[in-house]
Amino acid sequence: MTTATHISTNQLRLWKSLQFLLWVVGLFVVLSLFFKPEVGLDALWNVLIPLAPALLVVSPGLWRNICPLGFTTLLPRYSNRSARKQLSPRGQTTLSIGGLLLLLLIVPLRHVLFDTNGPATGLLLISLALLGIILGRKYEWKSAWCSGLCPVYPVEKLYGVNPVAVPRNAHCTLCEQCVIPCPDSTKSMHPLATRKIKADRLAGTILVGSFPGFVWGWFQLPDYVGEEKWGHLPEAYFWPLLGGAVTLVIFLIISRVIPKKEQSRLIRIFACGAVACYYWFRLPLLFGFGAFPGSGMLMDLSSTIPPWLPYLLQGSTTLLFAWLLLWREVDKKQSWTIRPPFAGTS
Ligand code: SF4
Repeated sequence: MTTATHISTNQLRLWKSLQFLLWVVGLFVVLSLFFKPEVGLDALWNVLIPLAPALLVVSPGLWRNICPLGFTTLLPRYSNRSARKQLSPRGQTTLSIGGLLLLLLIVPLRHVLFDTNGPATGLLLISLALLGIILGRKYEWKSAWCSGLCPVYPVEKLYGVNPVAVPRNAHCTLCEQCVIPCPDSTKSMHPLATRKIKADRLAGTILVGSFPGFVWGWFQLPDYVGEEKWGHLPEAYFWPLLGGAVTLVIFLIISRVIPKKEQSRLIRIFACGAVACYYWFRLPLLFGFGAFPGSGMLMDLSSTIPPWLPYLLQGSTTLLFAWLLLWREVDKKQSWTIRPPFAGTS
């Protein structure tokens, strides 16, 4: 059970140190994308990003407390340079849909551009940070970026459906109710927990239903290099969108025939399908196995570790996510972080 209490000064200090440390790591990654691209690309796509889905499943609140991009977009708020406006429900919906579109637009582009081009990836990260800062200058706390336009936010909502660890909110010291429902503080948060706005529900349905197939489709292609790589752009979008369309249809059919109370289990099944699929393909690629050796590889262990080890890893991670998302008891009173006291009540 999560209740609204102040975070202690010591805890806050610890979180701030961690946020700063991660921010410096983020800055190092961005700089190396320009000046030492092979280091930056490895650090981002082959170390940090592969860790992120598991972290989102275990503790979306921890991720949101320490995400360097989130921290950057909150700098205007920390330095009293935010107008702290309340975002309208319509604005909230528009930004959330924008976040989902950005996700679906950026991820396929990795195969033809971002996975192999450091400066392009660096420019992408800087553009996202600038966009977040502009929104942070105008709107209160996380409403416009972290709970709005951020392209990782849809994935947080999908994977964070049954968190294991719930930290205190290390950003908002008082809750200004800047976003309703607040993803950080709402119990049993999931992509369809919306304000009954049709577009919101549609975006949530598309995300849950299509994401497992989208992830599967993405892994059907290698990273393309050389002059002709842009010729592969249509297939870079075709396979993820085709996979997404197939699982979306399956989701729609199942959600029509099952009782309403089983809806949240169905969402967890699709979340589990997407994240298990991600690691099923990603782990072998990281270590030089899989269909496209060399693509997305951190180190080549193909001649040093037994060939059955990747299969063992695939099986273990699938079982792990099934346990975390499906078999483990669901705590319906659990939110991503513990809500701070409401402003004006403390
Ligand atoms: S905890 Fe309150 S202030 Fe912080 S993001 Fe959620 S609604 Fe906004």
